Amino acid sequence: MVGVDEYYSFASNKFISFVKHYFFLHISPNFNSMNWLKKLAVFIFFLKVAICSNAQTNAIKANKDGLVVINKKRDYFTSIQQGPEKKMVAVDNYLIHAKYDWKYATINNFTHQVLYKHPAAYTRTQAAKALQLIEIDLNEQGLGLIIYDAYRPYSVTKKMWEAVPDDRYAANPAKGSNHNRGAAVDVSLYNLQTGDPLLMPTPFDDFSEKAHHNYMQLPQEILQNRSILKNVMTKYGFIALDTEWWHYYLPNAVSSFEILDFNFRQMRSLNQE
Ligand SMILES: [Zn+2]
Repeated sequence: MVGVDEYYSFASNKFISFVKHYFFLHISPNFNSMNWLKKLAVFIFFLKVAICSNAQTNAIKANKDGLVVINKKRDYFTSIQQGPEKKMVAVDNYLIHAKYDWKYATINNFTHQVLYKHPAAYTRTQAAKALQLIEIDLNEQGLGLIIYDAYRPYSVTKKMWEAVPDDRYAANPAKGSNHNRGAAVDVSLYNLQTGDPLLMPTPFDDFSEKAHHNYMQLPQEILQNRSILKNVMTKYGFIALDTEWWHYYLPNAVSSFEILDFNFRQMRSLNQE
């Protein structure tokens, strides 16, 4: 299928070649007889066309799977010019009481490998603002958020797939993950007063049926905890994943946000610019 960008690129190339032809046929022969103001106008016009044409050749190319993966600073800053909601931000600037439990920075995860180092929670601004409202709501209920994972570099998704190439457990890199887009979080709840995690149906990344939202053979307290989390996350715009009680993502994740491949050190430096 021809994407909008490809169509735009095609139309733009046609326009540029038309302008070039027009210049040589009509403007070039008469250029010397023009007054300086007309010459200046012609010069500015062609300069604009040249810049436009250059921007086209610099457009970020999709990879072999049709995914746009951004891994250059310049491309990231170009991409976020579309709107303030796209900017990647540090979630801890939005949250006060959140706890972080980085399973993928340890061997205590489904791959039994350390998948990344020095993590911090980053998301698109849209997700961070929603998490801020979620935290306020939860705090009023005496609860806080536990964050297991937020933005995840695309290279980590590839590592997960190499370790476990099964889309019941890991995102297929051919599709990418909404974590790579900065538009998904893995979360749980804790008691603000005691600091204890709330009981949930399974541990994080347990891929059994027990982790499904429609699994009901659980004690009342656990069903209630899962509901509190789902209600508050969906109230502020996240969507629940049927098969993982901890995973929530933005409804516009795929349409609005490109896949990013910056490690956490690079992400920190992007945020300082
Ligand atoms: Zn997740």
